[in-house]
Amino acid sequence: MQAFRYALDVTPSQERRLLRHAGAARAAYNWGLAHVRANLAQREAERTYGLPEDALTPATSWSMYALRKEWNKAKHRVAPWWAECSKEAYASGLTQLAAALANWSRSRHGDRAGRRVEFPRFKAKRRAVPSVRFTTGAIRLEDGRHHVTLPVVGTLRTHESTRKLHRRIAAGTGRILSATVRRETGRWFVSFTCEVDRAVRVPARPAAIIGVDLGVKKLAVFSDDRPDVENTRRLKKSARRLRIASRRASRRQGPDRRAGRAPSARWRRADASRARLHRRTAFQRKDAIHKLTTSLAREYGVIVIEDLNVAGMLRNRRLSAALSDAAFGEIRRQLAYKTAWNGGRLIIADRWYPSSKTCSACGVVKPKLPLHIRTFTCDSCGLVLDRDRNAALNLAALAKHVIAGSGPEMENGRGAAVRPGRAGQVAEKRQSRTGRRRIRRESSPDNGRIADIEK
Ligand SMILES: [Zn+2]
Repeated sequence: MQAFRYALDVTPSQERRLLRHAGAARAAYNWGLAHVRANLAQREAERTYGLPEDALTPATSWSMYALRKEWNKAKHRVAPWWAECSKEAYASGLTQLAAALANWSRSRHGDRAGRRVEFPRFKAKRRAVPSVRFTTGAIRLEDGRHHVTLPVVGTLRTHESTRKLHRRIAAGTGRILSATVRRETGRWFVSFTCEVDRAVRVPARPAAIIGVDLGVKKLAVFSDDRPDVENTRRLKKSARRLRIASRRASRRQGPDRRAGRAPSARWRRADASRARLHRRTAFQRKDAIHKLTTSLAREYGVIVIEDLNVAGMLRNRRLSAALSDAAFGEIRRQLAYKTAWNGGRLIIADRWYPSSKTCSACGVVKPKLPLHIRTFTCDSCGLVLDRDRNAALNLAALAKHVIAGSGPEMENGRGAAVRPGRAGQVAEKRQSRTGRRRIRRESSPDNGRIADIEK
């Protein structure tokens, strides 16, 4: 399964049609939610009258099919305009509702990992992201490679060429399962979920190992002679422009719902330009990350990165802006699927593996190495090396360990973690410094290992 996503250049009338479909999806969602809630309330009330369980109004089914059936009975009454939109619009709203209800129910019964899921809420027009999904009907790419056709909505122009997906479909190695259209920061996108037959590939250097140290100052530093990847200057420039644009918007008369004040035309303009800049900055960042991960996955047989606790680090406010910019989590996600595509292997070192504090020449671990010290100096063998480079070398050395089979490993982001000898001690030290409760909260996605450390 692979998604192909294209920005759309829509005309005003096409945009109205898309918004109408997204609104229809939302209407069906809200109607279904009201229907389910009314049924729950009815049964609850009947219970308070002392009715036995089997005499209650029957519970409505929460399945997508049942909801659709109910909707088709009710639509003439609640949405007399239903024929204006594709039936897929209503189906997509009800599918979302069925998923939301199932998530809530599974979370309540402890069958779902992660944070507790709230009972679904109504979607407000001003808050919901306009989105609609098509799974059947006329979904196709046009031959000119610059247009896509969707049911009822019609043919829309894509901003870029659809060449890659078009070729796959023509060659029979790709099949479109669904198309989702959504508006993000003022721009429409279509995303095709496709089934793809992927050719078996081998990296250019199957035996080569590379350690990658991800950082804030430099996006990536490598264990071999590959040049460092800087956080691009373009990105820094965009960030400055973004600050200016935000300031400009905040000086204008913005909307205030409590006071019932509509935004001024000048604020609208400033806000639109801020959104445009945001989008542009995000795309530049994405582009840089994709280029990095693609080139690594195509070349190396084994890539080693660190398991950075991104959620925990983002709470450190001084680091957070720079970190979310670098998007470590995204780099890891991309490396995981791209190494799988290219026949390589991704190894993720344990979060507590002291890659920065270990000497890459003699293996002695320093007790401490504050972030501002950029050079690693070894007291026992005299090695002097750039801090990040030293860390990258340690990560690469870890791969040799794992491949030789002397340690458990963690591949493609899931499973047990790599932790050779001394790492456990370091974890304990860190715990006593920051306090137990804090560690537990920051690392909550990883209960197994934390319990381990607390022992
Ligand atoms: Zn040393």
